[in-house]
Amino acid sequence: MSSRIVLVINAGSSSLKFSVFRVDGTETLQLVERGQIDGIGTRPRLHVKNATGGVVVERTFATAEVSSIKDAIRLAGAWLRERFQQESLLAVGHRVVHGGVHFSHPVLIDPEVLAALEQLIPLASLHQPHNLAAIHAIREGQPQVLQVACFDTAFHRTHPQIADLYALPWEYYQSGVRRYGFHGLSYEYIATRLPQIAPEIADKRVIVAHLGSGASLCALQAGKSLDSTMGFSPLDGVPMGTRTGALDPGVLLHLINQRGLSGTDLEKLLYHESGLLGLSGISNDMCVLLESPEPRAQLAVEYFVHYTVKQIGALAAVLGGMGGLVFTAGIGENSPLIRARVLQACAWLGVSLDAAANARGDPRISAAGSAVSAWVIPTNEELMIARHTLALINNRETGYVD
Ligand code: AMP
Repeated sequence: MSSRIVLVINAGSSSLKFSVFRVDGTETLQLVERGQIDGIGTRPRLHVKNATGGVVVERTFATAEVSSIKDAIRLAGAWLRERFQQESLLAVGHRVVHGGVHFSHPVLIDPEVLAALEQLIPLASLHQPHNLAAIHAIREGQPQVLQVACFDTAFHRTHPQIADLYALPWEYYQSGVRRYGFHGLSYEYIATRLPQIAPEIADKRVIVAHLGSGASLCALQAGKSLDSTMGFSPLDGVPMGTRTGALDPGVLLHLINQRGLSGTDLEKLLYHESGLLGLSGISNDMCVLLESPEPRAQLAVEYFVHYTVKQIGALAAVLGGMGGLVFTAGIGENSPLIRARVLQACAWLGVSLDAAANARGDPRISAAGSAVSAWVIPTNEELMIARHTLALINNRETGYVD
């Protein structure tokens, strides 16, 4: 019997990321290869690595050959079919940024679902169109392939209403101006890892700090999201590589009314020119800033730590205390220095650092006897999507109804 695979796709504005998972006899998923087509429309390049990081292929293409997501899907599809011709593709799982109010779980895609997801484009106009373009391209080329949408927002639909509201006139909430929260697939994955790695806090109040190029924090109670720092868009909360984090809306009024910035100008400023890059004037990359002697690089790092700590305090207040703090994503998983600075500033919450464990990057980095424990748990959004996809396909065969 040919082995079975699940393909995971994350389509962005200029790149298409994909991961291939093999399903074994016990329905366990194993990463086989992970690839990316980047430079779509500019300098297209396909590069694929195997599960241990070995290079499988690196190839460049003429701009005209890969000028859209549709082209990228066609290229990746042809390459994957050739490479995995002995395997049978069970389904494709997509990362879809916005599931709106109604999609609180992953969903098998049909024309009705696709139409509902199109309706959500105005809520996430920078990402949703690319996610959906990949789904459309597969439907056109391979209509028989089952596709599943997994949402960045879905995990946060357990928020109490108060955490989803803005103090705007009520009709704005009703028409969708709400705090949706993002990075949900990462938080959900961490919530599934807690019983294995940190069972003593899995059913307690936990704050997860997803600190990467995009950064946010989530308050978990017994593995469910109660609140998070991102809101209507992925701009709110802590500062990020190039995004502002929380910003007084009065600043926007000033920029529009006094400085004449347009919507497009603001989008560019808030998403691409701010955060660590804007503050430092040097880089959006935390590694570069940590190594730079420039005072503004150090200021950007200090700002990042300060607002991360501030949000931990806010989420601890929402939870009514905290039993554990988890670091994840690029900075959270790899920077002992940032973890140490954050934890030292959180000593008042009852957490004390084990400096040696932190330097080693152990799973547990709090000292023995620390009232609040601290952890490093690598995230895996692709695996979360693959698991959801497989579960939906299997349950569908046994009559699962979402
Ligand atoms: P992500 O978006 O999760 O891939 O995270 C990317 C961010 O993690 C970038 O700002 C990187 O500079 C940062 N990062 C990765 N490794 C390290 C490290 N060893 N120390 C500090 N930051 C790191």
